[in-house]
Amino acid sequence: MSGFGVFADGGLAWREDGGAVDLRGLGDVFAQQTLNALMASGPAAWREAIAAARSHDGPRTTDPDLRLPFAVADYVDFYASLEHASNLGRMFRPDQEPLLPNWRHLPVGYHGRAGTVAVSGTRVVRPRGQVRAGEFGPSQRLDVELELGFVVGVPASEPVSTADFADHVFGVVLVNDWSARDIQAFEYVPLGPFLGKSFLTSVSAWVTPLALLEDRRVEAPEQDPPPLPHLAGGRDWALDLDLSIELNGEVVSRGNARTLYWTMPQMLAHATSNGAAIRTGDLMATGTISGPAEGSEGSLIELYGNTRFLADGDEVVLRADRLGEVRGRVQAAE
Ligand code: CA
Repeated sequence: MSGFGVFADGGLAWREDGGAVDLRGLGDVFAQQTLNALMASGPAAWREAIAAARSHDGPRTTDPDLRLPFAVADYVDFYASLEHASNLGRMFRPDQEPLLPNWRHLPVGYHGRAGTVAVSGTRVVRPRGQVRAGEFGPSQRLDVELELGFVVGVPASEPVSTADFADHVFGVVLVNDWSARDIQAFEYVPLGPFLGKSFLTSVSAWVTPLALLEDRRVEAPEQDPPPLPHLAGGRDWALDLDLSIELNGEVVSRGNARTLYWTMPQMLAHATSNGAAIRTGDLMATGTISGPAEGSEGSLIELYGNTRFLADGDEVVLRADRLGEVRGRVQAAE
């Protein structure tokens, strides 16, 4: 497990053997408050930075205090897991086909709130909202969503093909898209998620460069129908990473990121296919990752069939191979 992070008081860190190496001695790019300058520098510089970090004999910390590793530009959240979309479709629209007609034709997504993306360990204050018509109060259905996120390094002002994914994307984080299901269920029609999601999104303190995930790349499951030409390709970017959800010390879900229907290169190609520019620090998350096996669901609403949600004091730890953890404890509404 290796990756870049940022110390709470500034300066880049390199994860090594569970601890952190202080990279500030390596120069200006490594003395910053965020990874953004490094991320903007492109694949050749990323390779040099990884080599330099690995051989750097800087000060070491075993339990470092870390901050949000990059300044988040825009935040997009997709809905790329076939099993998650089907599970939620069955719950929210029991009389209809679980998948909406567009789902297999493009990676469905929405723009989230960049300003409330926070580092692992940030406290999770139970949000208030309209939990049903005529009632404003603390959410009673607070949930987690286990997701991967990819972070843009090199900007683009034209569509990014699936083949060019690794020229623009710096690395991958683990994401917990905290979700208030009652607020979400009442507000989402017709424009999609809003306050049920925007109160907090937690990410791992470490960003794992794509280059360090090469050995985990596998072929994604077959798509039916085949995607249009601008979304074709990038199918060799499924990631074989074991995932888990731990609730108050007990592992309640075990899955794998390779089950996602849409891959990260397809998500980026879709997000830019209309000419929308991307910037350094853009975070794009996959959506909840649920697998076909029972017990591999990436949210509590799926795991417990809409019967169990988070109580005040509950602690959730999401874990992924290579990417580390995302931790958060629920606090009472303020
Ligand atoms: Ca989500």
